[in-house]
Amino acid sequence: MRYAVVSDIHSNLEAFQVALGRLEGDDHLLCLGDIVGYGPNPNECLELLRGRINTTVLGNHDVAAIDNFGIEWFNPAAREAIRWTQGVLNAENKAWLNTLGYEYRDPAFLMVHGAPSPDYFEYILDKDTARKAFDSTDAPLILIGHTHIAEMYALAADGTISHRHFQNGGTVELDPAFRYIVNVGSVGQPRDLNPQASFGFYQPDERRIEVTRFDYPIAAVQEKIECAHLPEVLARRLGLGR
Ligand code: ZN
Repeated sequence: MRYAVVSDIHSNLEAFQVALGRLEGDDHLLCLGDIVGYGPNPNECLELLRGRINTTVLGNHDVAAIDNFGIEWFNPAAREAIRWTQGVLNAENKAWLNTLGYEYRDPAFLMVHGAPSPDYFEYILDKDTARKAFDSTDAPLILIGHTHIAEMYALAADGTISHRHFQNGGTVELDPAFRYIVNVGSVGQPRDLNPQASFGFYQPDERRIEVTRFDYPIAAVQEKIECAHLPEVLARRLGLGR
């Protein structure tokens, strides 16, 4: 049994296609939200995702696209992209987004976009916010996205937290004596200064998560962003990985 864990696709079809090309047929897709927003292909990304076995939770951009929730917190470029997304999203994809929940709990793991309840869209950016997240659930493994930074926090039985980045990918061997928060990074808009897209493979039986980074045709996406008259900054940041 293998899961492919993706997050923050953000309507970047080219990156998502390359990620899916690395999957095997029966890999179950776990999607941590923000399928849409920022990028030029929301419908195409949703259709690709829906075409596979998947378990998906809502991200803040998905919620904003379907009902404007939280849009006042968005920066101007993000807000403009959400308005654009609302204009192009087809009824079927919008209806599908509407069926999704904010969390999914399996005995072995919890999936949320940003952080466990009560604030699903809080940013886990340091050991303090990681500790708060560990305290909010008993899940041994918390799978998150939202920050677009591939990294992990490990909580030892004595309460100490260790931290590691996956700027160039890496592997976590899940020790049953620890609890983990793993952020697989972003498929469609990485922000850890590596413009390569990021996602993970999770093998529960082997107790292993591998975060992998890969190239995709960035220039093609930048051109589409320009043609769609989306904010230019959204194209530029793809090339910088920030
Ligand atoms: Zn996002």
